[in-house]
Amino acid sequence: MADYSNAGATIQENVSLKSFNTFGINVYSRYFVEVDSEPALLSALRFADDNMLPKLFLGGGSNILFTQDFSGIVIKLDLKGASEEIINEEEVLITAKAGENWHQFVTYCLERDYGGLENLSLIPGNVGTSPMQNIGAYGVEIKDTFYSCKALNLETRETEIFTAERCAFGYRESFFKKEGKGKYVILEVTFRLSTKNHHIKTTYGAIKTELEAAGVEVPTIQQVSKAVINIRQSKLPDPQVTGNAGSFFKNPVISTKHYESLAKEFPAMPSYPAQDGVKVPAGWLIEQCGWKGKQIGHVASHPLQALVIINATGEATGKEVYDFSEKIIESVNATFGITLEREVNIM
Ligand SMILES: Cc1cc2nc3c(=O)[nH]c(=O)nc-3n(C[C@H](O)[C@H](O)[C@H](O)COP(=O)(O)OP(=O)(O)OC[C@H]3O[C@@H](n4cnc5c(N)ncnc54)[C@H](O)[C@@H]3O)c2cc1C
Repeated sequence: MADYSNAGATIQENVSLKSFNTFGINVYSRYFVEVDSEPALLSALRFADDNMLPKLFLGGGSNILFTQDFSGIVIKLDLKGASEEIINEEEVLITAKAGENWHQFVTYCLERDYGGLENLSLIPGNVGTSPMQNIGAYGVEIKDTFYSCKALNLETRETEIFTAERCAFGYRESFFKKEGKGKYVILEVTFRLSTKNHHIKTTYGAIKTELEAAGVEVPTIQQVSKAVINIRQSKLPDPQVTGNAGSFFKNPVISTKHYESLAKEFPAMPSYPAQDGVKVPAGWLIEQCGWKGKQIGHVASHPLQALVIINATGEATGKEVYDFSEKIIESVNATFGITLEREVNIM
């Protein structure tokens, strides 16, 4: 085998991916490499080209379900580092490399009193993946503070800068999940954050209640982060303990007509206005169909949050998780005439 290790890309063979995906699915990749620099990434890509291998880029593995072994090369992005530029009296541009852990990056910003990402505390995964599905939580999405990202065009091998407009962010969507799928690897992301007069957002979910319980009337961004962390820890399974990938499905948006007819039959159905109709919480739909806490073999729907599918015994295969999700889709469709779409990337 030719030597590709000179740039720091040590290629391993037949590697288990169990510890590289938060579902804890034990599949094998034919080749596996961790890259911590752009030259190492280019070297890994040359190896893939020379051996005509399919490529899969991996961050924290928290939004992926492996249903089979991978016959190509998994390239785990470990590029690290952050830099900043004060642009005016109230704002800073802060850039982090793809391999930085998302929550550690949020913490780094909060330590400097940079505001805008506090509601996104404790989301698993890496900074480089955050634009892929425009990660969001508690009324905030990264598109709200996103400035640009640098990505490598896999065809030309040149880097390109993507503005928010070019990223075409939507609800758990972006250019990188649609037209750009498989064509780019994101190398770093820049956010535009506030250094003072922060825009605190506490209206969504239980943030306000959590802050009130802590006796906080005028919260700081650090207190909002703490509230979000408390809420998340109380209702979401910790992937270190129970394999999962967070919300398995997106919240569906249905037409107003469809909503009105369902609302007559299910008056308790929660709903939110959306751009192209009405958004309905997928967790509620799944729960109504009797799935909350239900287990089949090694797979279950989480007892506290029906939207989260878990590897209940730690022994589940990706195929079992996928089949379980198919059953949920079928039953929600039969009851409500709504086809749920998976948020998790299936491999
Ligand atoms: C407990 C839990 C809670 C969660 N809560 C939320 C939440 O509140 N909001 C939310 O939005 N998400 C949530 N998620 C989902 C997940 O954390 C995010 O989608 C996260 O951004 C995934 O990052 P990752 O690095 O782990 O991605 P991975 O799983 O490693 O990769 C996801 C996809 O992106 C591709 N990819 C990875 N890195 C790159 C790159 N640099 N360039 C190009 N392609 C790349 C991969 O090939 C794959 O297709 C949750 C997950 C868990 C387990």
